[in-house]
Amino acid sequence: MARNIENDSKLRQDSVIKRLPGALGHVWDWQLRARCRGMDSSVFYSPDGERGTDKQDRETQAKKICNPCPVKTECLVFAFEHEELYGVWGGMTEDERRNLLKSGNKKLPTL
Ligand code: SF4
Repeated sequence: MARNIENDSKLRQDSVIKRLPGALGHVWDWQLRARCRGMDSSVFYSPDGERGTDKQDRETQAKKICNPCPVKTECLVFAFEHEELYGVWGGMTEDERRNLLKSGNKKLPTL
């Protein structure tokens, strides 16, 4: 019996598509409402060698942007879930997140 190559190909294609993960838009949707959207990201991340008051001032400036952000919680949860090592996320600095993890406290701070 002759095989229907077109049909086989379509079946294989359908099978591959079914195994792909679903759309991931929901994972990123919160970023569309981010207050920092379109802003220069340098306020959120330390340049090489930044220390002391320069670092504190930049982080304070970043937190002022984060504090009224409508997706602050989603942002902070994302940072913990993805183990973001650097930058200010959800109003917390990298040091604050690291210290919270070290403390063993499983609760997010009140935002
Ligand atoms: S909390 Fe801060 S870093 Fe996170 S999305 Fe909002 S403004 Fe951006």
